[in-house]
Amino acid sequence: MKRVLVTGGAGFIGSHLCDFLLEQGYRVVCVDNLITGSKDNIKHHLKNAHFEFIKHNISKPLRVNGPLDYVLHFASPASPIDYVEYPIPTLKVGALGTHNALGIAKAKGAKFLLASTSEVYGDPLVSPQKESYWGNVNPIGPRSCYDEAKRFAEAISMSYYRMHGIDVKIVRIFNTYGPRMRKKDGRVVPNFINQALAGKDITVYGKGRQTRSFCYVSDLVRGIHSLMLSKHNGPVNLGNPQEITILRFAREIIKATASRSRIKYLPLPPDDPRQRQPDITLAKKVLKWLPAVSLQQGLRQTIEFFTNA
Ligand code: NAD
Ligand code: UDP
Repeated sequence: MKRVLVTGGAGFIGSHLCDFLLEQGYRVVCVDNLITGSKDNIKHHLKNAHFEFIKHNISKPLRVNGPLDYVLHFASPASPIDYVEYPIPTLKVGALGTHNALGIAKAKGAKFLLASTSEVYGDPLVSPQKESYWGNVNPIGPRSCYDEAKRFAEAISMSYYRMHGIDVKIVRIFNTYGPRMRKKDGRVVPNFINQALAGKDITVYGKGRQTRSFCYVSDLVRGIHSLMLSKHNGPVNLGNPQEITILRFAREIIKATASRSRIKYLPLPPDDPRQRQPDITLAKKVLKWLPAVSLQQGLRQTIEFFTNA
């Protein structure tokens, strides 16, 4: 059985990744300090002999016993509200955490996969965004603690690939949603759904003309697994290319929840990217990957989760 280390494994995406890997017959070591994650997300595995949880801050060195075949580095606050609350831990986990995770991969001869983000493209001047686009990032703005940490994480990962021959893969994740997002993590999907379910105003920032492209978590996890097994090195975008304005998204949520909520306009946060749509040509070519879950299907599952949460 192959053994995989997942940092950030008690978070939203990380816990779905642990589920998927266990189902596929891997042994999983989950490392998380629970800064934005929860043991609830992994509680169904705590008695599984193929699963191990280590509570640890990966920005500090870690010795892992036994062999590892893959190190998947997902630890990092990811919601704009979270990383503005924890800017220094976010910078540290992108920099020191990635360094430590790479060190583990090097010591074990394991393949390394970094969870990067569409935020490396900043407020993009081209759309859709291809992997070859270098981005338009404000290095000192409120989002810079996250964007620049991930850009550094990509740079150090590629340096380990070039200097030490570590088999490095980078997934640039575009807005992903689904069950186990925190109700109050501040991201648009949990905010709008919970506001709609409670009959409260839906808080659209700015005029809602900014766009995002939403990918359901099961599609993303399947893509990550294909990337992990692929021979490709360097960044690959994973996301759903169906682009939608935030205002239209608010209306979709009102419709899907049959809510009486009304839309309330609030100021647009600084440096909020105006558009975001992945070009997934590379993922289609090297991974034969395509998202399969429609926005309507994904929202149905997510609304059901928050209704019962
Ligand atoms: P999340 O906040 O739910 O998960 C992050 C997990 O990392 C949490 O469990 C947290 O406790 C853990 N963590 C943070 N710092 C840590 C540290 N120093 N040591 C150990 N554990 C630590 O967020 P998510 O949406 O699941 O994001 C997971 C990864 O995917 C992140 O790296 C994020 O940047 C990336 N990503 C997510 C999205 C998205 O739309 N969800 C988009 C782009 C990139
Ligand atoms: N947004 C919004 N209302 C909210 C939360 C977010 O209008 O209550 C907007 C936000 O300004 C951004 C988009 O929704 O344009 C996506 O925000 P999110 O925090 O989910 O992640 P981002 O894509 O900005 O990293």
